[in-house]
Amino acid sequence: MSSELNRVDFTFQYPPFNVLGKREVGWTEAEAASSADRPMHLYLHIPYCRSKCQFCFYKVWGVGTGEKAADSTQSYLDLLFREIDLYARSAKVQARTVRSIYIGGGTPSLLSLKQIELLVGKLRESFRFRPGHEFSFESYPDEEVLTREKLDCLKQMGITRLSMGVQSLDDRIQELNGRPARKDQFLRLYAYARTLGFRSINLDFMSGMVGETMQSWKKQIDEILDLAPQNVSLYKLEFYLNSRLTTSLRHGHKKAALVMSDAAEARLAKYAFDRLEDAGGYIPSNSSALTQSLDVEQVHTKAIWNGEDLLAMGLSSYGIFDSYMYQNTANPDQYAELVLKGELPVLRAHHITEREKMARTMVNGVKVLKLARATFAARHGSDMQEVYGDVIGPLVKRGLLELDDKELRVPRSHTIFADDICRDFFLPEHTTMMTSQMLRSKIVKGSPEQSAAAVLS
Ligand code: SF4
Repeated sequence: MSSELNRVDFTFQYPPFNVLGKREVGWTEAEAASSADRPMHLYLHIPYCRSKCQFCFYKVWGVGTGEKAADSTQSYLDLLFREIDLYARSAKVQARTVRSIYIGGGTPSLLSLKQIELLVGKLRESFRFRPGHEFSFESYPDEEVLTREKLDCLKQMGITRLSMGVQSLDDRIQELNGRPARKDQFLRLYAYARTLGFRSINLDFMSGMVGETMQSWKKQIDEILDLAPQNVSLYKLEFYLNSRLTTSLRHGHKKAALVMSDAAEARLAKYAFDRLEDAGGYIPSNSSALTQSLDVEQVHTKAIWNGEDLLAMGLSSYGIFDSYMYQNTANPDQYAELVLKGELPVLRAHHITEREKMARTMVNGVKVLKLARATFAARHGSDMQEVYGDVIGPLVKRGLLELDDKELRVPRSHTIFADDICRDFFLPEHTTMMTSQMLRSKIVKGSPEQSAAAVLS
């Protein structure tokens, strides 16, 4: 396989979801002792948002704000607490200590103050935490969803990393992409959050949104530099087939004229990484995130991509625990039925083989931009060159990877293509995954698509 550099298809995890089979989780309490010294991470999914953004492909429900939202989410939280209890009763889980928690969605900041306190309290009484653990909380920067009181509460509850889903600082672009969030509200909330002293604030942005241009993007990157968050995430907008935006574009909506090509999006990403590194001193963590310093770099994602276990709870959440990948059901009725019966709401699972683990080390190592040879050898008993020399060699020759005695690296010039490069390490049976998105080349009319890799020349 030879990497095509096009930034199409973000690799969410390896092995890919396609390998998930029947509900065959094989955890046993007897194995608890074997995993006692290994850290784990928690993910809690809140599948509710104020309203559903047009490009969103997640299974989330729009429930408005305020009391209306609190009423809609309460019965879900009751079920989530039952799922937490199921894990908390397991000796296997109790043998472990938690290194990071991530409450994501959806929009967790939609929960009321009381619900946030109850959820965090429930986690604190149910699991054992390592000193200095990271605690991330996702928020939607809209004053009807995230109030100053909620920010105070999050700080008091021990949240160390506040993530704000900004996506764009241009209200015109937010509107074109069906998001009610507004810049002035975000700026007020961000300024207040900064005064509270979270260990780190992450701002999420999207490149290639409908209506974005290089000019608007450059302005936004300058504004991000002024805001100086500890972490910046930059995700490419992809047109998943199950989003309302993709459906309207497939039916010929005139917004298609405002969609940029993959090559143009790659130029935005390259510009952003170069400028944030050169003018802001940011350090790339992977192909879609930068950090001001390794002291405030996100622990959660990096640790999971480094092979640590993730205990995921909530509707449709996905985790990896003791060599099992699993995904919870996304059907609310089935979720309720299973947890009320005292069963884990796992829909499908897969036992990761040693061969897959080895490939995963390489895939994720490329995703986080470097992998120490000693790490690979310690995990798999041989040097990476012995196992993957035939894959690494051609990639080094093409300038997509660098290899020395100590580590394998993605060169700075190719950071934005790490998700393309990592696919060369996929096992053959995983290379023909069906894409669930509409390619930009099918939307953007006019001259033939220029290769995204052309941004490097
Ligand atoms: S806020 Fe995020 S999860 Fe919610 S609808 Fe928008 S994109 Fe989807």
